[in-house]
Amino acid sequence: MTTTAIVIGAGITGLSAALWLQRAGVAVTLIDRIDPGASEQASYGNAGLLSRSAVIPSSYPGLLFKAPFLLFNRDQPLYLKWRHLPRFLPWLVPFLRNGHRAKVSEISTALAALTHDSVEQHRALAADGAAASYIKSGDYAYYYRTKADYRADAQGLALRAKAGFEAVELDRKALKRRDPALSDAYQFAALFRDHGWITSPGKYSAALAKTFREIGGVFVKSTVQDVADGRVSLLNGETLFADKIVLAGGAWSGELARKLGQIPKLEAERGYHIHLKGASYLPPSPLMVSDAKFVATPMEDGLRCAGIVEFGGLNAPPSDAPIALLRKRIRQVYPDLTWQSEQVWMGFRPSTPDSLPHLGPLRDAPNVICAFGGQHIGMTIGPKLGRLVADMVAGRRINLDLAPYEANRFS
Ligand SMILES: Cc1cc2nc3c(=O)[nH]c(=O)nc-3n(C[C@H](O)[C@H](O)[C@H](O)COP(=O)(O)OP(=O)(O)OC[C@H]3O[C@@H](n4cnc5c(N)ncnc54)[C@H](O)[C@@H]3O)c2cc1C
Repeated sequence: MTTTAIVIGAGITGLSAALWLQRAGVAVTLIDRIDPGASEQASYGNAGLLSRSAVIPSSYPGLLFKAPFLLFNRDQPLYLKWRHLPRFLPWLVPFLRNGHRAKVSEISTALAALTHDSVEQHRALAADGAAASYIKSGDYAYYYRTKADYRADAQGLALRAKAGFEAVELDRKALKRRDPALSDAYQFAALFRDHGWITSPGKYSAALAKTFREIGGVFVKSTVQDVADGRVSLLNGETLFADKIVLAGGAWSGELARKLGQIPKLEAERGYHIHLKGASYLPPSPLMVSDAKFVATPMEDGLRCAGIVEFGGLNAPPSDAPIALLRKRIRQVYPDLTWQSEQVWMGFRPSTPDSLPHLGPLRDAPNVICAFGGQHIGMTIGPKLGRLVADMVAGRRINLDLAPYEANRFS
């Protein structure tokens, strides 16, 4: 008899799980309240970077002492909506605890296992359809104001080097050759080879969904209200049954997981982008502006600048200050840039206190498989998470230690 599965959530993680399950011969129903690729998804508005070298956890040694400076300095990309503090604290405490040296090294190894082959994972996922045309390969650069700033990043550079990512150093002359429109404020760069990016994350997701339907997958546009082991209840009163249920609802997964006895410790880390359509200039590949902590990515129709961390929960409206800061920072990087129109966006990173996703079955509902918590690198690792889910359902041997991502670890 054919195995059946319901995948909740059609962001990059759910789409990847749905496609790989379908390819494994499972009959899949994919459910989302919005269309795949719609702007409410984190998978729509991200910087599109496939960051193979993203092996640095968000919590690191010294952050506790740096946090007040970051929070109260208007030029720093960290914001907190103070009303959110009581709900945020149970996440913040373990988050800060994970910032000690030994733990950071351990998490970094677990991150590398998910990120190292991400460009290949995206190419394999998109192989059968139009989505492949949105994947690009190239370098990823970190821009610094000075060489001293680069050296001050020693901890991150050491973690990347340990994972096999050595920086190619660019002095001002080499940097200017690479990126002629760059302001003189940036004097140094570190280049990491063999990365990738998506030139239109929204269209990419929509194209993956089209492939999923073409190979027999069923998409249901509805809100999941309740979930149990093998059963899903929709807002319209309908109940669907399946052998396996994959919970891939991004930042919204926590509510459903809690109904199943899990304490997911999931925070909606709010991020913003300004997409400069018809930009007069595009850098050769994505870059991270280290002091401003945003990524600028050349995309299909312009330059997308995305970053900022704001803790404020899922329901508060977007804030103005992060966008104003992003706008000011873009000018500091490319002073002469012009563009025809712009789009501003806010979305939710599904983030855990240890920067690792929840992956695998729930203790109290073993037919429900979690696949959420991609935080800052969810676009990068989505295809791998999806493939691992399909391997679990198909009972294939998995050549990876899954313990660090265990779905019940905070419960
Ligand atoms: C500003 C910003 C920049 C980023 N840049 C990058 C980057 O460059 N590279 C990178 O790798 N990552 C990046 N990320 C992170 C990345 O975008 C996310 O981690 C990733 O997209 C999460 O994917 P997802 O599928 O888990 O969630 P989502 O894309 O948010 O999808 C979740 C889906 O589940 C659906 N859903 C949830 N609950 C229900 C329900 N009850 N019923 C029906 N449907 C439901 C939602 O409607 C949604 O469509 C960035 C994030 C932000 C905010």
